[in-house]
Amino acid sequence: MASTIFQKIIDREIPAEIVYEDDRCLAFRDVQPQAPTHVLLIPKKPIASIDQLADEDAELLGHLWLTIRRLAKELGLANGYRVVVNCGEDGGQTVDHLHFHLLGGRALSWPPG
Ligand code: AMP
Repeated sequence: MASTIFQKIIDREIPAEIVYEDDRCLAFRDVQPQAPTHVLLIPKKPIASIDQLADEDAELLGHLWLTIRRLAKELGLANGYRVVVNCGEDGGQTVDHLHFHLLGGRALSWPPG
């Protein structure tokens, strides 16, 4: 897999406003926030998208979801939030490194565009 902008953030080749990091994942603020709180959570393992997930990633996925819950608490999203994972062209994915958008801090409309 070619090095993406998110891999460069993991490798500290480009800056980001990091809000959480452990051995398996990294969370940082989106440069074009769509809500008062807009954080991206990514696995350090270079998985391109949901489509590239393997059975062996099940434990990692559990860790990512539990990290989202933790981040939502730490970022004060007590009134609710949304988690979005875009996949592929029609899904609107623009960076080929699996990422979870954590959005909150305002009432979010539905359905998405
Ligand atoms: P997606 O469209 O689901 O692939 O989301 C990619 C997201 O990455 C967008 O919301 C971008 O604003 C965000 N993004 C792109 N480059 C950076 C960067 N260098 N630092 C933080 N967020 C970024």
